[in-house]
Amino acid sequence: ALLASRPAGPGSLLQVLRDVQARLHHVPEWVVDALARRWRLGHAAIRSVVSFYHFLSATPRGRYTVYLSDSPTDRMQGSEALLVRLCEQLGVTPEQTRADGLASVHRTACTGMCDQGPAGLVNDRPLVRLTPRRIDEIAHLIRTATPLEAWPPDFFEVDNPVWRHQQTLSHPIAPGTALQRMLVNGLEAGRADMIATLRDAGLRGRGGAGFATWQKWLACQQAPGPKAITCNADEGEPGTFKDRLLLMDWAHEVVEGMTLAALTVGADQGFLYLRGEYAFMAPHLMQVLAERRSAGWLGPNVAGSGQAFDIAPHLGAGAYVCGEETALIESVEGKRGIPRTRPPFPVDRGYLGLPTVNNNVETFVQVAQIAVHGAAWFRAHGTAASPGTRLLSVAGDVARPGLYEVPWGITVAEVLADAGATEVQAVLVGGPSGKLIDASQLGRQIAFEDLPTGGAFTVFDRRRDMLDIARQYTHFFAHESCGFCTPCRVGCVQLADTADRLLAGHAGPRDIARLQDTGALMQRLSHCGLGQTAAHPLLDVITHFPEQVRRRLVPDAQAFDVNAALVHLPATLPPAASPP
Ligand code: SF4
Repeated sequence: ALLASRPAGPGSLLQVLRDVQARLHHVPEWVVDALARRWRLGHAAIRSVVSFYHFLSATPRGRYTVYLSDSPTDRMQGSEALLVRLCEQLGVTPEQTRADGLASVHRTACTGMCDQGPAGLVNDRPLVRLTPRRIDEIAHLIRTATPLEAWPPDFFEVDNPVWRHQQTLSHPIAPGTALQRMLVNGLEAGRADMIATLRDAGLRGRGGAGFATWQKWLACQQAPGPKAITCNADEGEPGTFKDRLLLMDWAHEVVEGMTLAALTVGADQGFLYLRGEYAFMAPHLMQVLAERRSAGWLGPNVAGSGQAFDIAPHLGAGAYVCGEETALIESVEGKRGIPRTRPPFPVDRGYLGLPTVNNNVETFVQVAQIAVHGAAWFRAHGTAASPGTRLLSVAGDVARPGLYEVPWGITVAEVLADAGATEVQAVLVGGPSGKLIDASQLGRQIAFEDLPTGGAFTVFDRRRDMLDIARQYTHFFAHESCGFCTPCRVGCVQLADTADRLLAGHAGPRDIARLQDTGALMQRLSHCGLGQTAAHPLLDVITHFPEQVRRRLVPDAQAFDVNAALVHLPATLPPAASPP
């Protein structure tokens, strides 16, 4: 029955496995066997997909599966104590399933709710603003096996606070307007105009790398054969949640931008890759897609252009690395999200080998707005090298966490003043893969030419232990490394181990030197951005907060004295157990 509800073929594997996990709370071996026979796949290939994604499991999870966000901002708000409390009340150990199968409680890296944490998920539904009292209520509802539909609705109410509008968020466009504008002189003229307008606007991809959007689209347009479009809605960087707000309140613009891309490059299929934590938004997005099909803006003849294009939502399953564009494409194909070797780039060989444009949610929204308002309107804000505005997910030690639309070129200090931050010790611009700055650098600009960012902006005041924060981010990378390449697979574990020992006061100056060497090696040799940036938090703390590191160093930790260590062992060891 589950297979019947999905397109036939292994490309649906991840989606089918998600469905199976939701119904059976795990992916049993008989399902693996059935899928292997049905789609002529190897059992190992299917099992490897199950083991890759955090939200899939070969062993049973609870009928109520709870994930509590374990990002540093959630921890700052007491998430760990809440997890312990919930586990005690449910009689479970973290990451284990209760013997009767009722419940299991897990940590997860980030749920995209840092603006209203501590947060979590229960069976794909969001839980926000958790308190000890609410945890007690949740435990009671689970113990009494109350269906989620009967839980108080406010438990699942996600706010979308926007504190600053600048350009994009102040000028929503009516659905279909950008398509009409593009096609006013016909499809061929519209294609050329769209590329020229994006070039004049200077729009750079909002995913973080900042590649010129017009160049990407032109390269794909010029490639031969059928094409595809993917929208990266897999924001998984701890501290990022802006796409959540765009997908809830600006979904028509997102889809309109994807459709403009499809018409421009000649693509007939598109995928909206939604991070697994945002599964609760899928019905809303399906509704938007259905409305656009009814209006003729998706389907066999988009807005009368003569070109076909449609979009399928695709849900991730808890793997941060799938935010990397080639890993995302692998995941859309139903596989593990292992980043591909580049070149070839997706615009030459992407989804199923087709030339593919991949942009993120914010880029598609801004494309739709540029198509309506024009390049000059867009360039009215920002700097020459970073035109337009940037959406920031502001979280951490601020009075007003939420979404801020700021002009590129704004200083960090201005954003902090807007957000009501005081006693600032450090700001993480761009999430853990970005840049950590200290209070002496608050005059720096958010801009590609100074501090580029994928949108996360996390604030730490003077109460915070920055070494511990960096340690948590390092563990995040170690957990999320896909394991494909040795520098990252081994390097991340070494970094995390060193961070643990540093924090515990068990490391010395030689460990710092080794850590810096490891970080440099990972940056040079890792296969994708995850490994290349995984050492950033620790290296930045060593650079900007040397005192917090130095006071924990043990000068004589450079050598290990075996004889001294053995002195503490009991004189007589217990006898070894005799063989049966
Ligand atoms: Fe995987 Fe890390 Fe290598 Fe990227 S750098 S491919 S995440 S192991």
